[in-house]
Amino acid sequence: MTYSMVSHLTCPKCKETYDADSIQQLCVCGSPLLVDYKLDEVKKHVTKDMIAEREQSLWRYHELLPVKGVVNKVSFEEGMTPLLSLPALGRMMGIPNLYIKDEGMVPTGSFKARGAAVGVSKAKELGVQNLAMPTNGNAGAAWSLYAAKAGIQAHIVMPEDAPEITRKEVSISGAQLYLVNGLISDAGKIVADLVKEEGFYDASTLKEPYRIEGKKTMGYEIAEQLNWTVPDVILYPTGGGVGLIGIYKALLELQMLGWIPEEKLPRLVAVQSEGCAPIVKAFDEGRTESDFWENSTTHAFGINVPKAIGDFLVLDAIYQTNGCAMAVSEEEIRTFQRKVAMLEGQFVCPEGAATFAAAKKLKDRDWIKEDDEVICLNTGLGIKYPDAFDVEVKTMEPFERIRL
Ligand SMILES: *Cc1c(COP(=O)(O)O)cnc(C)c1O
Ligand SMILES: [Zn+2]
Repeated sequence: MTYSMVSHLTCPKCKETYDADSIQQLCVCGSPLLVDYKLDEVKKHVTKDMIAEREQSLWRYHELLPVKGVVNKVSFEEGMTPLLSLPALGRMMGIPNLYIKDEGMVPTGSFKARGAAVGVSKAKELGVQNLAMPTNGNAGAAWSLYAAKAGIQAHIVMPEDAPEITRKEVSISGAQLYLVNGLISDAGKIVADLVKEEGFYDASTLKEPYRIEGKKTMGYEIAEQLNWTVPDVILYPTGGGVGLIGIYKALLELQMLGWIPEEKLPRLVAVQSEGCAPIVKAFDEGRTESDFWENSTTHAFGINVPKAIGDFLVLDAIYQTNGCAMAVSEEEIRTFQRKVAMLEGQFVCPEGAATFAAAKKLKDRDWIKEDDEVICLNTGLGIKYPDAFDVEVKTMEPFERIRL
């Protein structure tokens, strides 16, 4: 039996196929490529019970991942993050069955490590020596550190106001770091030049087909952790949307394997900031693609993406699951970051906090029902963003302290 049961790559737009044993970027038509597996083979040889016995990381699903040689696996045992119920916060929001999938627990402190683990492993397998990518911080940090372990040179371009810690993670790993006075879209143009001039592997979001395969494992894990069922609603902080597309892809694969019931998929919700909400705008207008969002801004840095290359896939996943898209304000993000910490003791990242703010709004509008099982994805650690909000301190005079 083989470690991976990958079959080939398919373009979701024009249906052209490509082989998965040589370097592929976008389809000739400009669309991202998606990975197909020999699901009949998987069905024949792999069972849920076998999976249950395996290591507590995303590699427990290795037949459904693209890395063929276990020797190429670059891993810090990422994945299988906790799915925790939030009774106090749920009570406050009127959603008793509220859960957090806590991605702050993965290496590098954000779920970008999932994409990096699978993406870098596959790059190693394909013989890549240099990779380049634009990033809002966390992806660059994760890919740099995994690339260091793989012996691949990373070239990372990020906006100069991206969270400082991510800059340090990139720098300490020995990656080449370029700062740009602009947005991730500007960083993307610099990467495109580097790729063209230097022949580097383009690891930009969805321009290589394997990052999404790492991120989709969140979908497998949610199903497995719910004893191979799915929740009613999953809320996802959406920048490039890779996680949301990935979760949708994962659940379809599980349905085809017969591992989850066929009649139900969770309603997927793309959450964005009011300062950068291209997907929400497209959804509200009933469109299948988004427009570039001018002058985008939000302190939830991971979702500051003015135009996602996979926007049509995000919108499709939302429409197919009867989901929706919802924007929240910077104030609501800060409020919920505090509420989650005060009521549940978890310091979530601003992007994660946005999903809770959105869940509350959707409950108030009765789009989320009281008996719905609802999962909010916290995509990273709050402590990666020390400047996200102000600290309240009580000061004391020195003599008072002495008297204590
Ligand atoms: C990148 C990132 C996101 C958005 O992820 P996409 O899959 O690109 O939409 C959300 N939260 C955090 C913390 C991130 O780093
Ligand atoms: Zn195509």
